[in-house]
Amino acid sequence: MTPASPFPVPVIAVIVAAGRGLRAGGGLPKQYRMLGGKPVLTRTLEAFAASPLVSRIVTAVHPDDMAHYKAASATLPSTRLGPPVPGGATRCATVARALAAIDAPDEAVVLIHDAARPFVSLALIEAAVTTALLHGSAIPALDVTDTVKRIDADGRIVSTLDRASLRTVQTPQGFRLGAIRAAHAKASAAGRDDFTDDAAVLEWAGVEPATFAGDPANIKLTRSEDFMSAERRLSPTPRSLRTRVATGYDVHAFGPGDHVWLGGVRIAHDRGVVAHSDGDVALHALCDALFGAIGDGDIGVHFPPSDERWRGASSDRFLAFACERVAARGGVIDHVDLSIICERPKVGPHRDAMRARIAEVAGISTDQVGLKATTSERLGFIGRAEGLAALATVTLRLPEDGPDER
Ligand code: MG
Repeated sequence: MTPASPFPVPVIAVIVAAGRGLRAGGGLPKQYRMLGGKPVLTRTLEAFAASPLVSRIVTAVHPDDMAHYKAASATLPSTRLGPPVPGGATRCATVARALAAIDAPDEAVVLIHDAARPFVSLALIEAAVTTALLHGSAIPALDVTDTVKRIDADGRIVSTLDRASLRTVQTPQGFRLGAIRAAHAKASAAGRDDFTDDAAVLEWAGVEPATFAGDPANIKLTRSEDFMSAERRLSPTPRSLRTRVATGYDVHAFGPGDHVWLGGVRIAHDRGVVAHSDGDVALHALCDALFGAIGDGDIGVHFPPSDERWRGASSDRFLAFACERVAARGGVIDHVDLSIICERPKVGPHRDAMRARIAEVAGISTDQVGLKATTSERLGFIGRAEGLAALATVTLRLPEDGPDER
């Protein structure tokens, strides 16, 4: 049953959180990435839970991300949260499933919202509800301030559009439950699941959705830069950040095998490495440098070799975890630098792939990743090709006054 609402009809928020896009970096789908000390999704859920108009919140979650969802929603009032709905293969299919899971009359208002817009305000939620009650639909729209051109396949401008009649649209998009559910069912029956928002589904079904004034602050977090500016926005008074530098070191012995993992890249080789995980010395050294910079133990503490869960584990998971620990402390990674020491395999041909992979997992740019290789001039265990080693140095900035409690 849907709890009572101060409005004539129940208002249900549908949070679309089933995407798996890793474009924003951090090694996690962006809605689970930390922002100002808590996951993006937690902030989005809190925004809707704070509205007295919203009677229930239904979140669509990728089936593989249920544990992330559980962690992100743990602090929210359980009376307002419906059970998570497993998402479908496309955004459309995901929304259709969430709508199907709602137990409310057709006149109920649904607010469909992207999890990656955590800055949705109470005023915008309220405007979406009142507009939807009045007009049956409510699409937050913004004027276009840039001049918009149409281009051809060669990138040449063929025309200039009249921006007075153009808008960009946001979420939450408000609808009457019966109407949007019917439009989604019709689209699904016609094999159309390629719409990028729900207004487009209604348009396709022959209804002209109503717009209301959107909020420029209600940005969608998409790229790594969006997270950086969002972090700045959450710290209006710049807190004093102190630079920290830390190093990490790791060695693994060669053993039987036909490849090694180095810097998150699989390299064919006539030996393998002896390790509990995938034995990526570069990522292990880097994790230790990150843990060192925040005074948070080392890789063996967080991922003990005695733990069967980490047998054969891909080390990019360790790196993503270490970066999350830094983010949770409000830290900003400025630069990472690696030296790989081995006689073979040759590192040079894989350098750029390693830098790109490390940057992707750490949510930084390739430019912030240094990677060099050297031999040990045939001296010692490395010189005898018995194993390989890596050294990492991390430079990051951390708030002086400890973790951010927001
Ligand atoms: Mg190791």
